[in-house]
Amino acid sequence: MRIATPAELSPVPEAEAPRDCPLCPRLVAFREECRIEFPQWWNAPVPAFGDRDAWLAIVGLAPGKHGANRTGRPFTGDFAGELLYATLLKFGLANGTYGADPGDGLQLDGAVILNAVKCLPPANKPEPREIATCRSYFEVALGALPSVRVVIALGQIAHVAAARAMGLKPAATKFGHGAEATAADGRILLSSYHCSRYNQNTGRLDAKKFESVFERALALRCPG
Ligand code: SF4
Repeated sequence: MRIATPAELSPVPEAEAPRDCPLCPRLVAFREECRIEFPQWWNAPVPAFGDRDAWLAIVGLAPGKHGANRTGRPFTGDFAGELLYATLLKFGLANGTYGADPGDGLQLDGAVILNAVKCLPPANKPEPREIATCRSYFEVALGALPSVRVVIALGQIAHVAAARAMGLKPAATKFGHGAEATAADGRILLSSYHCSRYNQNTGRLDAKKFESVFERALALRCPG
């Protein structure tokens, strides 16, 4: 059976890497290992998911091994996705039911999810040069979404990648839960602790704290 390309699944096809993107040798080697060990999995650069006319972009770090790297849809099938998609549904940014599967029919409405790094990194830790290399795709994706007014970055690495892509100086744009910075073109970067299992299990982040960032994003979209 023919496997879809990332571009065919994406709201921003012009910003997607090919399935066999060769640019990060360490990630390519890990991808090949996963393809041998788990041949039924996606095991390729994970495309963006959501609404081409999104006003809100959510930026994650990189695919999780058993989540997006397995299913091919950002945050789908792992612990972090449970809270993210529940929050999107709660705030009317998604329609349908989240079934932890790309075939669940869920659609985002006004929102899009991107990753700073499209391929699975060993131990969930991309190296700085891999983040820099994949930035070319990430920046094209953000640039191809002209309606985006607010960007929520999940975690510090996504925050730095989003700040750079928005023309903000990362050193002058401190990461913190709920931190805000405005780019020269008026787009706003909002930062959040990542909705990872670790952050939720340690109490660093809970649903209320996570939702507060989305409440703020909605308020920024419709001031007053
Ligand atoms: S992380 Fe990005 S640039 Fe690197 S191999 Fe994957 S798609 Fe290509």
